[in-house]
Amino acid sequence: MKEAEKVIELVGVGASYGGVTVLEDITLSVAATDFLAVIGPNGGGKTTLIKVMLGLVRPDAGEVRLLGLPPREGRAGVGYLPQQPPLDLAFPISVFDVVLMGRYRGVLRRYRPEDRAAAARALETVGMEGFGGRQIGQLSMGQLQRVLIARAIAGEPRLLILDEPAASIDPGMQRSLYDLLKDLGKRMAIVMVTHDTGVVTDLVDQVACINRRLFYHGSSEVGLEALEAAYHCPIDLVAHGAPHRVLREHDEGGGR
Ligand code: ADP
Repeated sequence: MKEAEKVIELVGVGASYGGVTVLEDITLSVAATDFLAVIGPNGGGKTTLIKVMLGLVRPDAGEVRLLGLPPREGRAGVGYLPQQPPLDLAFPISVFDVVLMGRYRGVLRRYRPEDRAAAARALETVGMEGFGGRQIGQLSMGQLQRVLIARAIAGEPRLLILDEPAASIDPGMQRSLYDLLKDLGKRMAIVMVTHDTGVVTDLVDQVACINRRLFYHGSSEVGLEALEAAYHCPIDLVAHGAPHRVLREHDEGGGR
């Protein structure tokens, strides 16, 4: 059987800020059909890892391919939802125009009818089709995340990368956001940084546990206890609706 197409490939990747190593010798790949959760303790390098994948942080060792290309080139085919909203919420811009920004291809290219059609489809996909005329600052956090996901998928990407998409929304809305991601996962690869352990067991099929190094990368079916016990994989645990940090001895010092 032909090996599944890879949307991300990292080989021996290292990254640092100002000489301080944050990622070391990370080798992992994501197939076109994968839904991967990136987990690990706070400060373990999860956000840096996805920024390296996207070409937003330059690695100081190793090779990165995004959709078979150098990351800065591959990025055009990727939807990305950063941890912080990628725009000023006080700015008077409509929901529809925010989603349309997902079709932006540079100042020299105007939006075309097909861009508007794609933005409308994306809003419908996330269940926000009635909100196109609303100002972006007039949404709940859960609604805002849906709109920003619509913006991320308006370009019809093969890969969606999300950094803690449910962190700021209430538990009821989280469930429906995860249902949406489950649907999206049927048509594109997804990489999601999360602290939500319920998600790892219910929603995703692959998990990568990062704490400077890659402790485990494989099926999520092994379960979280096995990840912690057998793979020495430190996890920042957040139960549904009730955030609590579960400290482990090996949380500190970037190792086991
Ligand atoms: P996580 O997403 O797992 O919480 P991050 O990738 O955000 O981890 O951060 C990993 C480490 O790198 C942390 O110690 C953090 O303080 C540091 N770091 C992150 N971004 C920067 C930056 N722009 N400059 C300097 N240090 C940074």
